[in-house]
Amino acid sequence: MKKITLKILGIVVMLVVLLQTVAMAATQSELQNQKNDNQDKINDAKEDLSNVQEQKSSTQEEINDLDSQIADYQSQINELDTKINDLNNQIEEAQKKLDEAQAQYEENQKLAEERLVVMQESGDVSYLDIMLSSSDSIVDMISGYYLASELAEADTELLDSLQTQKDEVEKAKTDLENSKSELDNSKTSKESVTAQLEVVKEEKNTEVAKLSEDEKQIQAQIDELTEANKSIDAEILQKQKEVEEQLKKKQQAAANASKPTNSSGSSNTGTSTGGGAVSSSGFIYPVPAGYQRITTQLYYSSGAYHGAVDFGSGGINGQPVYAVQEGVVVTAKSLTTSYGTYVIIAHPNGLYTLYAHGQAGSLRVSEGDYVSQGQQIMNVGSTGNSTGPHLHFEVRKSPGTYSKRVDPRPYLP
Ligand SMILES: [Zn+2]
Repeated sequence: MKKITLKILGIVVMLVVLLQTVAMAATQSELQNQKNDNQDKINDAKEDLSNVQEQKSSTQEEINDLDSQIADYQSQINELDTKINDLNNQIEEAQKKLDEAQAQYEENQKLAEERLVVMQESGDVSYLDIMLSSSDSIVDMISGYYLASELAEADTELLDSLQTQKDEVEKAKTDLENSKSELDNSKTSKESVTAQLEVVKEEKNTEVAKLSEDEKQIQAQIDELTEANKSIDAEILQKQKEVEEQLKKKQQAAANASKPTNSSGSSNTGTSTGGGAVSSSGFIYPVPAGYQRITTQLYYSSGAYHGAVDFGSGGINGQPVYAVQEGVVVTAKSLTTSYGTYVIIAHPNGLYTLYAHGQAGSLRVSEGDYVSQGQQIMNVGSTGNSTGPHLHFEVRKSPGTYSKRVDPRPYLP
């Protein structure tokens, strides 16, 4: 009676512990998935960030180019300004000369007209009248005539020459004005190009400001995800500790329950089919006797890191794969690539073991299952990234991290 009660009590304790362990293990696996998702997002965000930074620096370069173009145009405009000022001065001077020439012309014209009036008034209307009316002497008459005609001729010549001078100054002034107008046009067009460049520069500045804003946001996102992963790490660690504790309690409960029954004392449950020697680390071989030869070591023959050992002896295809120690299944998946059909088990000592390339459909465990040492979890196959039937076996110090893989050989018998 007592024996049976103890046995039932032991089973109840085991079941309770098992259920709790399952719940926690599933959470741990979920946490790991979430962490991996976050890491993917961080990697994407980092790529985005580097794109944004590249775009920003190339836009900044464009702005610098625009700045030097604008400065170049500005210095050309300044040069034009100097030339235009110079021309304005010359035009002013020409105008002054023109005014002077005009005044001189007008004065001489007035003088000539006055002389003509004097001559006309001394006789009647014509030179001939002056001559004919001159009664003093023929000499006077003749000299008077010549005087009058020479004066008239000289006046005409002077006025002609003044007119020519005036025309020349006028023409020079027009030439200056034409040159100035050309420079004015050139200045206007350069100013309009400068204004356009300024508009483009303003747009680019806005773009840079926007990119800076994007940069800030992406960085904040990266920081947030990194922070989230830190707390997930802490949570995973906590869960792992809880799993270990629960496994320890389970072992104790099993030991207590089995004592009075006088059984073999093995902690293996009924489904256990594995066996053989147990190493000092508490591991057995994951494959049956006769197939325990390691065919690929921690490094490939090429020297590349393998991070695992392979059991690939002839005839191994379809052989059972055993849990090397009791534990909780944290991953049981069937992929068509990579590890193919594979299992990860968390052990009470804090280590994880991974079994890969199992036969499709041969999985005998699910995530959260408790497995005993030597329990069959699948069959050897060649799924995923595999060239022939073999068991790929890893020992890890953290479930989801490649870098936490260690050499499995020291852990094996
Ligand atoms: Zn391998």
